[in-house]
Amino acid sequence: MSNTAPSVERTEALPEETRHQTGGNGHTAFVPVSQLEEMIQQRLREERARLEREAGLAETTHTHFRRPEERPFTKAQRPHTTVLFGGLTWKHERILQGSIAGLGYKVMPLPNADKQSFQLGKEYGNNGQCNPTYFTVGNLVKYLQSLEGQGLTKQEIVDNYVYVTAGACGPCRFGMYEAEYRLALRNSGFDGFRVLLFQQGGGLDQAGLEAGLDLNIDFFIGMLNGMNFGDLLLDISDQIRPFEVNKGETDRVLRECVEYMYEVMKARRPYKLEGTLADVMWAKAPGLANTTEFLGKFLRQLFSDHFVDGLRWCFDRLNTIDVDYLRVKPICKVTGEFWAQTTESDGNFNMFPFLDREGAQVIREPVATWTSYLLNQAKNEARDRRGLKEGEEMPRWYQVGKHAQRELDFVKKLSLLWLAGKIYNREYNRLRAALGHKPHALVNQLELLRMGHPYYNSRAEGGEGHLEVAKNIYYSNKDLCHMVLSLKPFGCMPSTQSDGAQSAVISHFKDMIYIPIETSGEGDVNAHSRVQMALGEAKVKAKNEFARVLQETGRTLDDIRAYVDAHPDMQRPAWKIQHHKGVVGTAANFVKQVATLMDADEKGGRLRKLQKVAAMF
Ligand code: SF4
Repeated sequence: MSNTAPSVERTEALPEETRHQTGGNGHTAFVPVSQLEEMIQQRLREERARLEREAGLAETTHTHFRRPEERPFTKAQRPHTTVLFGGLTWKHERILQGSIAGLGYKVMPLPNADKQSFQLGKEYGNNGQCNPTYFTVGNLVKYLQSLEGQGLTKQEIVDNYVYVTAGACGPCRFGMYEAEYRLALRNSGFDGFRVLLFQQGGGLDQAGLEAGLDLNIDFFIGMLNGMNFGDLLLDISDQIRPFEVNKGETDRVLRECVEYMYEVMKARRPYKLEGTLADVMWAKAPGLANTTEFLGKFLRQLFSDHFVDGLRWCFDRLNTIDVDYLRVKPICKVTGEFWAQTTESDGNFNMFPFLDREGAQVIREPVATWTSYLLNQAKNEARDRRGLKEGEEMPRWYQVGKHAQRELDFVKKLSLLWLAGKIYNREYNRLRAALGHKPHALVNQLELLRMGHPYYNSRAEGGEGHLEVAKNIYYSNKDLCHMVLSLKPFGCMPSTQSDGAQSAVISHFKDMIYIPIETSGEGDVNAHSRVQMALGEAKVKAKNEFARVLQETGRTLDDIRAYVDAHPDMQRPAWKIQHHKGVVGTAANFVKQVATLMDADEKGGRLRKLQKVAAMF
């Protein structure tokens, strides 16, 4: 359409036959005055429509969004359907693969997301999404395209693969992930590809009996176990790698351990109520049989040593690595948004290998913290909603029975959540014990809440909620790290809010070294150089601390080293370094511990000499 709007001359003063309009083409046409007003209105309508079209405001028919009907994934399709999943580290994913394969599925984790995944996510997805959406959605599209590249037709891919992922109803963009997957799949030509969700806040049974992916108690126990094993192996390897004497040995042994745990998980069969008595129960009282089997699964999880033995094997293997704990390393606690702080990919500028190359000791956040957080938030919600029932009015004061019922419901819910939290912690600690108690214990959620709430309302959910702020205070104030690095994705709403609150935190805790890094599909060099600068400060802090502690012991570094050389146990990962108040670094804490042992030995030696002299008389 032409940009020159046709001009209409005012012609009231002229006789009717002389009134005219000059068109944009320069021609003059006579128009009867009776039609002139209508013509103006028509032109206005056309022009308004053009402008609205250009601004994307053109009127369309609006229909309410309905979740597209999806072809079901049925039990009969299981043998020839591969379940795809991803989004964690390869260690978690390999172990989870073993767990899901042990339940009888064909299963495959996606390769790590990279920049191409990000570009594909942007190309096929909606505008204005957060960074992890682009990476994860694009990564699925990339993998499906690679299958096509291997010669599979689109129809074969759609028929023989499904993708399973966690879902939630928000409140951040996490609630949009499912829709984003579907949109990108449709736009990239994989319309009809099935995306299966397990709800992060859902219960233990989220699928019907004939569902292809049975999201039952076996599946959830397997998921929790797999994630815990991944967390713990990552944690212990992060404590060994910076001190390994032979470069690369930790990663080599870690790979062996992950493969071993994969086999351990795969070999595990779900508990089943079997035998003659069970047959009778299934026939006569299926409800009772079901409950008994459910309990059996729980009890076996709580008391069997199957997995504990697997982790003990890993610990023995890891303990063969030679370490030198006298190397001074700054400790960097990595926090941030869940995916950005977990992934080992371009999604966070490959931050973990970078920190390792730069000489830092890293403390990552285990996935288990997230599970504990969800449990704790559920407890808070139960407390906040005490006495309320959705869709019902509050009972009057005299309806004592109703009040009592609601109180009972509240106590029941809270007790179950409390019990779930206790069991989860107990399991985590049992597995930590198998790894010599080296991995960090889970941080108490109540403590985190108390620290974070004054800065970030703990009821504001979405993303990591108050955790980002709380972890920053917790790790810095308890002498657990020299610096905190927060990885927050571009476009992440909760992380942006956290950033605002972090300025108040930093102004209250002046000694804190805190650096937020916004992750996106580009800008690695800039991000790395900012981290390098903060790490420089942290290194100085660590070195000064080491020098101070060494001086306080009254020993020389050579004395300490000679003592360590004479004690091979101290050159093994199993050696437990005691944490001292006011001392952060591993090397500094180690020196303090060694000096104490040297003092004790000398005292003991003097005592033995005195005893010998006394024995002569
Ligand atoms: S927490 Fe942030 S990055 Fe993660 S899904 Fe929500 S908005 Fe996106």
